[in-house]
Amino acid sequence: MNIDLTRFRQPCACGHTHEITAKTVLIESGAIQKLPQVVKECGLEGKKPCIVCDENTYEAAGKQVCQVLPNHNLVVLKAEGLHPNEDAINGINAGYQDSDYVLSVGSGTLNDLGKYVANEHKVPTLSVATAASMDGFVSTVAAMTLNNFKVTKICPAPIAVVADTDIFSKAPYRLTASGIGDIIGKYTALSDWRISHEVWGEYLCENIFDIEYSAVVKVAENIDNIRAGKKEAYEDLMYALVLSGLAMQMMGNSRPASGSEHHLSHFWELNILNKNHNGLHGEMVGVGLACVTKVYKDFMAKTTDPAAIIHPYRGMDHESLKKVLGFMYEDAIKESTPDDMLNVTPEKVIAAWPKIQEIIGKMPSHEEILDMLHRAGAPSTMEEVGVDSKLLPDYLKYSPFIRGRITLVRLIDLMFS
Ligand SMILES: [Zn+2]
Ligand SMILES: [Zn+2]
Repeated sequence: MNIDLTRFRQPCACGHTHEITAKTVLIESGAIQKLPQVVKECGLEGKKPCIVCDENTYEAAGKQVCQVLPNHNLVVLKAEGLHPNEDAINGINAGYQDSDYVLSVGSGTLNDLGKYVANEHKVPTLSVATAASMDGFVSTVAAMTLNNFKVTKICPAPIAVVADTDIFSKAPYRLTASGIGDIIGKYTALSDWRISHEVWGEYLCENIFDIEYSAVVKVAENIDNIRAGKKEAYEDLMYALVLSGLAMQMMGNSRPASGSEHHLSHFWELNILNKNHNGLHGEMVGVGLACVTKVYKDFMAKTTDPAAIIHPYRGMDHESLKKVLGFMYEDAIKESTPDDMLNVTPEKVIAAWPKIQEIIGKMPSHEEILDMLHRAGAPSTMEEVGVDSKLLPDYLKYSPFIRGRITLVRLIDLMFS
């Protein structure tokens, strides 16, 4: 399927014309053979790419890419121990030479490296996706490890994504299961977005919400087909992942794709209270989703009279934030400034209560989420991804500060306890 991007650029019923920088998204069998056409559509015909692979993605797809774009510079990084760090950047720069653009062949790490290096050279980047593992293909940040610190750098997104079904459907299955986790995590992300919209009027575009929600439901309904290796189901997953990135471009932030489940996964990935997490991003998101779904469903079930227990927001507890977040404290405060919570009053929450009930009621139950993760072959418990479930109350309390946005986790912590 060649995704028609014009419909995303049209003036929207919400009153905005949403901007997207992606020019082409192609997801189909044999897509790599059409790369020369995609390059042309991007205005890069006759220009020389720096093709960036690791040993595995070179074997899986890089070889074919080199054949269809014969005039290129090629970098094949060592797969073992590959991280988006200075070593990898230097490795790419050593082979960059007279390139005009960067073409990364891979998923998370290689896509991030491609964005980062292209941004350093001020040239465009294109992405050949070799696994349906995460939704960052067209995101405008690169998750890097620089000076041994995990940082996210703002970088222009790839202007094209080419995903060849014959290749990404044969990726190691763990990567695909991780992609499923990243997508079904949108159940809480979208619920949090709508709740924030209801309690203080955070901007929500119904169009973007619907596009994202339908893609999530389609993946949830097709988990067994993905597991069975059906190509069409794989394409739906890849489409949902790319679409999620497009939704972020359209909103100008990660709101449609990231809620309390991502706050937990980011918190774990930063190793703030734990040392040895061992999950892939989408795996952490899936586990975060399972945790948060239980919290949301239980909270709504037991809260029969919210007015009796709600209190006004009392502001941030800087002392404990400083103590727990440590090196992340300054960034967390920046994220939470201005503090959206200051717009939320008990009256507004009570008035929105029936809507909140409806939103959480529509979400799959905790058991259904666990069943989806099990069927997907993805982890569902904190222990499986190397984080300590005894610390869950702390994770829930502090993870929302990793991003500034309002979620139901944040409301429960700051107004109901
Ligand atoms: Zn809109
Ligand atoms: Zn994600």
